[in-house]
Amino acid sequence: MAIIKTTENDKLEFDSAVNELKEYFSSLSVRKGRTLTYNVLTYGCQLNESDSEKLSGMLASFGLEASSGGELDAADVILFNTCSIRENADRHLFGNLGVFKTLKKNDRDVIIAICGCMMKVPENVEKIKKSYPYVDLVFDPQQLHRFPVLLRDSIRNKKQMVNISADDYIAEDSFFPIDRKRKFRALVPIMYGCNNFCSYCIVPYARGRERSRSFDEIVRELSELASKGYKEVMLLGQNVNSYKGEDGKTFADILRAASDFKEFSRVRFMSSHPKDLSDEVIDIMATRPNVEKHLHLAMQSGSDKVLKDMNRPYTISRFLEIADKFRTKVEGGSLTTDIIVGFPGETEEDFEETLKAVEKAKFDAAFTFQYSARPGTKAAAFPDQIPSDVVTERFGRLTEYTNRYSEESNGRLVGKTMEVLIEGISKAGDMTFSGRTITNHLVNFTIPQELGINIGPDYLEGRLCEVRIDRARPYSVDGVLVSLKGE
Ligand code: SF4
Repeated sequence: MAIIKTTENDKLEFDSAVNELKEYFSSLSVRKGRTLTYNVLTYGCQLNESDSEKLSGMLASFGLEASSGGELDAADVILFNTCSIRENADRHLFGNLGVFKTLKKNDRDVIIAICGCMMKVPENVEKIKKSYPYVDLVFDPQQLHRFPVLLRDSIRNKKQMVNISADDYIAEDSFFPIDRKRKFRALVPIMYGCNNFCSYCIVPYARGRERSRSFDEIVRELSELASKGYKEVMLLGQNVNSYKGEDGKTFADILRAASDFKEFSRVRFMSSHPKDLSDEVIDIMATRPNVEKHLHLAMQSGSDKVLKDMNRPYTISRFLEIADKFRTKVEGGSLTTDIIVGFPGETEEDFEETLKAVEKAKFDAAFTFQYSARPGTKAAAFPDQIPSDVVTERFGRLTEYTNRYSEESNGRLVGKTMEVLIEGISKAGDMTFSGRTITNHLVNFTIPQELGINIGPDYLEGRLCEVRIDRARPYSVDGVLVSLKGE
């Protein structure tokens, strides 16, 4: 397996395939007498969302338009960007693929493509080859930069094309046209892959070994985003703290460089591994006003024995030490986490250690998961898999604990006036808007008519405002807008 940086030749091949596809879809559009559309269905994490922004950008560059209908199959190119972290995503993909058989029968020009982490699991690829011959193209996440070339070849050859590479590629973002989904927030991957091999996780197999993007390239991209008016950047990587750029550049250097752009109201990052988080990063979070005061640090378990079995190289006391350091240095900061319940071999005592750790860390929010064996991982073959009724029971007890602390965290905001970055209309609709504090608390708020503010979502998205918080809920707070900044 090798790490391969894309070259000028790759770019030339890419551009030539884009041109050919433009011609192909243009004549198909004339033949069909309508504009052609695409639908990219994204599962999983923000890295997949970032990949989908690139895939959408490429599809748009072929002359296709994003499908506006909510129907899964209402498009001429349907692309699944899959995730293999959770079992549900597998079921969802295979549950939906059957639908396309009739679609392909009725319209042989429709293209169905699948990429993403699931395609690095050989059983999944074999299943597609055997049971879903009408899928046109299968490729893996390392080959995003080859999508136009592979799509062109599958159209030319008129047969299913499966292209899974053993190599780990790195293509800078400038390689791609990117269709960013939010006009105020830009996702900026700084590194790809992971070297940690947690025993339950498929990512190092699916996304390959760690590859860091060039520091200069990242700064160039940040500068472009700042000049285009983006207000928030999310620096992404499976393990951002192990970023290794040219001349010894570290993640702390990237965080500082990003926060130097005063155009950004918020600089966020995801994800951090407890073994790599440096004091320097915590200091930057504490002292730079536009760097978020929110740390997401996956604990996974409170038992040293389970952490060892998970291949997570820290003890729970070390984890709590980091949590303490963050709480002490970053005043009012919020700490969130991921916890897996029911890992193979987890005893009642181990589980109680997790509850104790939650009590000590008092997480502002926790994403809790019931362990599910992922094919291809070490833990899937561990003995002592925990019966599902035990996992469900422990999961219920854990969420009671974590919900208590997240409600307390939200409750501490009541009566305060907080600065909020507006994200748009809230999910509740009903002329309620939503946004986030710099501590990543979700705020839903109304705008009193007497303030006479233009409430068009396009006008408000990405603006900073002050909101008085009136009520806490388990996962969010409610409030009323006091003023819009910069008015
Ligand atoms: S750090 Fe562990 S859980 Fe996170 S991506 Fe890497 S292997 Fe998976």
